[in-house]
Amino acid sequence: MRDRIYISSPDMSYEGYEMAYIKEAFDTNWIAPLGMNVDGFELELAKKVGISSAVALSAGTAAIHMALRAVNVEEGDIVFCQDLTFSATVNPIIYQHATPVFIDSDHKTWNMCPEALEKAFEQYTPKAVIVVHLYGLSADLDKIMAICKKHNVPLIEDAAESLGSKYKGRYTGTLGDYGIYSFNGNKIITTSGGGMLVSNDEERIAKVRFWATQSRDQARHYQHSELGFNYRMSNIVAGIGRGQLKVLERRITKKRYINAYYENAFHDMEDISMMPINPWDEPNYWLSCITVQGKVKPMDIMEALEEKNIECRPIWKPMHMQPFFEKYHYVGDGVSKEIYESGVCLPSDSKMTDKALFTVVNTIKELWC
Ligand SMILES: *Cc1c(COP(=O)(O)O)cnc(C)c1O
Repeated sequence: MRDRIYISSPDMSYEGYEMAYIKEAFDTNWIAPLGMNVDGFELELAKKVGISSAVALSAGTAAIHMALRAVNVEEGDIVFCQDLTFSATVNPIIYQHATPVFIDSDHKTWNMCPEALEKAFEQYTPKAVIVVHLYGLSADLDKIMAICKKHNVPLIEDAAESLGSKYKGRYTGTLGDYGIYSFNGNKIITTSGGGMLVSNDEERIAKVRFWATQSRDQARHYQHSELGFNYRMSNIVAGIGRGQLKVLERRITKKRYINAYYENAFHDMEDISMMPINPWDEPNYWLSCITVQGKVKPMDIMEALEEKNIECRPIWKPMHMQPFFEKYHYVGDGVSKEIYESGVCLPSDSKMTDKALFTVVNTIKELWC
């Protein structure tokens, strides 16, 4: 059988940068915990995105959890959270025994709708807002930040999918009060698993580093005056991250190419629209997504591609439609549902050849014949 074509799979540098850092960690016996790859990865990522401090953690989910604690979200608090996203955005709200209120998206960005956010503020007083930059597309940050400022509520950017994307020239994840990145296996760069929390509030990042390292007080004996978490990234994993960071721009270039290929191929198809890219946006094109209308349904596309051993997925199913989360309030007009029901994530793997892209496009176009 032909090799499977993936949506987005791990892609290590051909130079072997990752392995060199891992080898260095082995040679110096800095396997765990922490060590110079962790410090190096934090500094290099912070420098890349232009922020003062970063803490490497075991997952993007852990980074969101720590961001919520950094802004003092606790039991009984309300947190506004983008409705159209992966469940990892909202789970940490529940870990904190707080209550999410889901905010709809708009068609213009696929991300949090500023009008829906305003409306939610008329009904609730949240402790924090979590906005997401889905598929590497940035949210309408100026508007969202202005609303948060007006109400004096901190903004957390879930930039798990948008490392390297810029909003008006600045990296997503660095504009709000806190930003998080993920290095899970399918993300634009991966450490096999891991995350990063970034902020210009160095004091709070130091505090997170303390919490995430089991909240060990300065003492010879093991002493704890606060609840701790075992959330730090290992020195081996961080070595992979340092190597991957060197090829981030190369990955973006390839993913931009993939998106342009699809855009060009579907240009003459009235029923297919590419995901929205706004004038302020310089996306990382993590995934190329489309919406379809007319006789061909997203399921037809997914089935046709799967038949050729090509991976293909729907858009994230909105949180307010999830069995576990449907009990929470949702503010919106059903836009996230519309995007979910009409959308498809196309294979966007950085190892894809032109031949593979041609096969994907042809398989889809045949459905209209
Ligand atoms: C992947 C992802 C996360 C979680 O990151 P992990 O590193 O897998 O914990 C959070 N939010 C979004 C939008 C994601 O896509």
